[in-house]
Amino acid sequence: MRTSFQLAVSAVLLASGMAAQNRQEGLPELPPPELYRSEELQHAARANVIAILGGTLVDGTGSPPVDESAIVIRGNRIVKVGKEGEIAIPPDAMRIRADGETVLPGLIDMHVHLNQGHDLHLFLAAGVTTVRDVGNFTSQIVPLERETRSQEIIGPRIFFSGESFVHQYGFSPWQRPTRDVTEAREEVRKRIASGASVIKIVNDITPELVQTIVDEAHRSRIPVTADILGNRLVTAERAISLGVDGLEHVSGVPQAIVVDHSPLEFSEPISFKALFGWLYADSRKETALIDSIVKRGTYVVPTLSVLETQSGIPAPNEPATDAMSDGLRSLWNWMRGLPDNTEADLAFLTHFIYSQQFVAKLSRAGGHIVAGTDTPSPGLVPGFSLHRELELLVQAGLSPMQALQAATKTAAEFLGKSGELGTLEVGKIADLIIVDGAPHVRISDIRRVQTVLTGGTVFSASELLSLSRRR
Ligand SMILES: [Zn+2]
Repeated sequence: MRTSFQLAVSAVLLASGMAAQNRQEGLPELPPPELYRSEELQHAARANVIAILGGTLVDGTGSPPVDESAIVIRGNRIVKVGKEGEIAIPPDAMRIRADGETVLPGLIDMHVHLNQGHDLHLFLAAGVTTVRDVGNFTSQIVPLERETRSQEIIGPRIFFSGESFVHQYGFSPWQRPTRDVTEAREEVRKRIASGASVIKIVNDITPELVQTIVDEAHRSRIPVTADILGNRLVTAERAISLGVDGLEHVSGVPQAIVVDHSPLEFSEPISFKALFGWLYADSRKETALIDSIVKRGTYVVPTLSVLETQSGIPAPNEPATDAMSDGLRSLWNWMRGLPDNTEADLAFLTHFIYSQQFVAKLSRAGGHIVAGTDTPSPGLVPGFSLHRELELLVQAGLSPMQALQAATKTAAEFLGKSGELGTLEVGKIADLIIVDGAPHVRISDIRRVQTVLTGGTVFSASELLSLSRRR
């Protein structure tokens, strides 16, 4: 049956590369991913020195835009930023004109599941140069991370958590049950040793396990992020007090702010009923929770785009769906064919609507909002779903500039990489996009990404988008 926690657990459904496990879980076997190399592209260009000239620079720091800007890149680092005509452009530079366009940092999607790596090129086509995979097999994500980093295959820069931690109820093969604190500690060490840069806790995780996991992860300065949708014991308030650094899907909030003795009390370790807690919210508890999220500097990754698609309300048509591979298409079809649960859909609709209001309040209070999508849940095209996420953040009440920062500067801070990624400043990695329009004024202009620069290679967004159709 389709579980009431499909969103949180989309992972289950988000199919895996391990055929044996697929059969065991009743998951469909997907056609293998189509992976591309940059040599296959006619319009990809490389140069040791690149100058991007004439565009309006929105550098991600929140500073006012700079018209007629100039950015000089050497290798994959930014070496100069300023006004065109005021800084010297090396004579050997490859010059890219961006007149009338906007130059922004490459976007970061902080909540994805790459599975086997289907359609990695679509992230770049949408201007997403970095992703954080928060649920996958370590054995599957480690090679993808390595091959994109070495540019053997085209794809975004990858950060990952590997398998996530549950107590008993893992709804996917990579949500691993954890018996006790000893096992939790060992498993956290294993994830970190294999390169995980975040630890993910999910579903029915218990306060005791959270405490141990946070303690062990923080010893290595690795953050812990939580999907605790419907968890009875670990509410958002409890998670924060135990040191959890991030809240995915605004999870744990309705349980934390519901009035005492509400009609929603339940005895199971997790229940979608918790999401109706918004309807019985105690405003003093909500204010106190926002206060502690701001004080602790907790990052909230609302993933409004997956809350929208899971609510059953029609989202706008996404033209990039046509560019998806047969593999992802069959995954979507399979997930959409699962039996429906109307009460759970209603719970998610409630959660979607109230989460937007909560995000607006949190943003006004100075909280850290971070953009993430949960692609490839059905309806969420890799990369392009982040554009919808940014539109929804603006619809919730963030300014277009704040929404862009949720997918650049603030995301890089949560990654612990603000010294390298997320803004266009001298010394940082040159991940940038050129957009036909002004997304810092009209957020939907983010859909018009023309050019993507990452790893010293300049890509044409439209060529990347057309790749799947060529084979
Ligand atoms: Zn997820």
